Amino acid sequence: MRRAIFPGTFDPFTIGHYSIVQRGLSMFDEIVIGIGFNLSKKTLFTIEQRLDIIQQAFANEPRVKVQAYNSLTVDFATSVDAGFVLRGLRSVGDFEYERTIADANKKLTGIETVILFTESEYSFISSTVARDLITYGKDISSFLPPNVKI
Ligand code: ADP
Repeated sequence: MRRAIFPGTFDPFTIGHYSIVQRGLSMFDEIVIGIGFNLSKKTLFTIEQRLDIIQQAFANEPRVKVQAYNSLTVDFATSVDAGFVLRGLRSVGDFEYERTIADANKKLTGIETVILFTESEYSFISSTVARDLITYGKDISSFLPPNVKI
């Protein structure tokens, strides 16, 4: 079984994240979405709300699981017996950050990171912009995966 984790903060999970997971399903048998959970990090959505959005998005996809974790990402990967970390890349801005983390994870445990470039139609989608829109009372349904209601 080829299993990957897709770790992130997902505050909230967007259609950009959704697209990366959907495309990842052509490479992996199972993807475990890991919601990184850090009590000292302030988020707009609670862990329950973030789990709920992802569960709604993948209600009909048994190959996608979701779990919250409060540990190093590589330890989370080991705990669910995953050999790969899946990540998405939008811009050169994301690149240095992703490479540093991927290198560290590889050195620590030998785990490989697989990066997919975002589809251009989603390159401007970010959780940060979604949160800003919510703060100013705007509708974010076009930022969310299909079939998700918040
Ligand atoms: P983190 O706090 O770990 O960066 P995020 O929830 O912001 O977590 O993102 C998780 C992953 O999804 C990261 O690899 C990020 O680059 C990727 N990602 C975020 N938005 C998009 C998007 N619109 N298209 C493709 N990948 C994305």
